[in-house]
Amino acid sequence: MRVRNLKIAIQRSGRLNEPSVELLRKCDIAFDNGLAKLRSAAYNFPIEMLFLRDDDIPQYIEDGVADIGIVGENVLAESGSKAAVIEKLGFGRCRLALATPRTFEYTNLECLNGRRVATSYPNILGRFLEANRITAEIHTISGSVEIAPGIGLADVICDLVSSGSTLFTNGLQEVETVMASEAVLISRGDLGSDLNGILERLLFRVRAVHAAGQNKYILLNTPNERLEEIRQLRPAAFRALPVAPDDQAAVADLAPSERPGRMGR
Ligand code: ATP
Ligand code: MG
Repeated sequence: MRVRNLKIAIQRSGRLNEPSVELLRKCDIAFDNGLAKLRSAAYNFPIEMLFLRDDDIPQYIEDGVADIGIVGENVLAESGSKAAVIEKLGFGRCRLALATPRTFEYTNLECLNGRRVATSYPNILGRFLEANRITAEIHTISGSVEIAPGIGLADVICDLVSSGSTLFTNGLQEVETVMASEAVLISRGDLGSDLNGILERLLFRVRAVHAAGQNKYILLNTPNERLEEIRQLRPAAFRALPVAPDDQAAVADLAPSERPGRMGR
């Protein structure tokens, strides 16, 4: 029997769509990504993409509609799904934070007792308030949470923040971090050996893309007499080839992107 494709759910449109598609492409997975498409099978790897709303992805995985998926940790935590995190992906970084109007004199969490908090994350917020023994009224709204204090719907909000510019434009100040989040690859636990084999191949590529992103490949020509100096600076550098003119050599090295290292004066 032919093994079926591994099904991966990714966000259809929104902040995680582009980096998720880019990650798969960097893994050398070729597929069509027309906006009207709900699913797309890769041409060169046994995987099929399902394009969905991010909030639905954990449930689809639990129901077996998709095998794996890419979501923010915030969405996974809010869903209560049993899908397991198998790899952190390093993009979509943000935090779920509490924010008050700038006129609110905030000192500590106790200031929130008896207040109305608007959020799209009632489960995470409920657990956070309970753990900190705060009794507040949670108002669940699905979007534009940042306008809730301005229209008199809430005293405080709990929403996703990255740069903080949305809070600032709405006259709000960030006062507490409830959870930090980034995009993660999640999976159903019981994929079976065939699908697990495909997942292992995918994970190998994802990790290679990540490692490549953290390194720079350096290739340079140098006079032979400076080779020893380079060897001292970069002991693992590989002397590739003698090049013309005869007194020159090519040197190859892999160095961390952040600090490429000095290979000469
Ligand atoms: P969908 O239509 O798929 O439900 P959405 O509107 O819920 O989309 P987006 O705003 O596209 O979601 O955000 C998707 C994810 O991106 C968030 O769940 C979060 O993990 C991450 N993210 C990173 N930075 C931010 C930010 N500043 N605001 C909101 N989400 C962010
Ligand atoms: Mg959503």
